[in-house]
Amino acid sequence: MGMLMPEITAATVSEWLKDYSAVISEHANELTDLDRQIGDADHGSNMARGMNAVAALDPQSFSSASELLKKAGMTLVSTVGGASGPLYGTFFLRLSTVIKTDGEPTAQLLADALDSGLAGIVARGKAEVGDKTLVDALSPAVDAAKQVAADGGSVADALAKASTAADEGRDSTIEMVARRGRASYLGERSKGHQDPGATSMALLVESAARCLSGGQS
Ligand code: ADP
Ligand code: MG
Repeated sequence: MGMLMPEITAATVSEWLKDYSAVISEHANELTDLDRQIGDADHGSNMARGMNAVAALDPQSFSSASELLKKAGMTLVSTVGGASGPLYGTFFLRLSTVIKTDGEPTAQLLADALDSGLAGIVARGKAEVGDKTLVDALSPAVDAAKQVAADGGSVADALAKASTAADEGRDSTIEMVARRGRASYLGERSKGHQDPGATSMALLVESAARCLSGGQS
């Protein structure tokens, strides 16, 4: 629609990280309850601790979006004890390598950034789609964003479709048997429960759609 997209700067990224931190605080009890069903009841507190530390980073002390994303990733790795810390940390570190320069983002750039984040998570955690992890929310989101980019769509459309796909992926974990992480110890008994990490990942993509779409609809 010829509407100007904001550049992705440290300030834009900071807005996103602060939004996600607030969302995690709101949903911390829900995430912990989900983790109580198939894990050790700490996913909400793990994510809240990590994202509180990330939200406290002052965007003014970073010269670019990339520098802030990198610091956010390192902060998550160092402050979150659970499996989710290194995985979410890797996600943001990978984003920092794709969103290298500040500027007006394209749908392709954001699809590439999410794809790189997914690749980092898979390299680290070895989960595949269907293993009942946060990969089940992120992977369909990446596919949806790539499709919009290939069709020449907008950033807002790419992130909106990615968010819808992440929600569907999160829901699909309910019927899955866990094959990675703590929930895998339960085997068949993990069935019938929504994966906590897929739930926090769907919230992350939704937050990105809200904060990085530049006011387009
Ligand atoms: P922990 O399992 O160490 O207590 P959390 O409770 O914070 O850590 O996070 C659990 C979530 O981490 C799971 O719901 C799952 O989505 C995700 N997870 C665990 N292991 C893996 C893995 N190998 N690959 C991808 N995601 C994983
Ligand atoms: Mg846990």
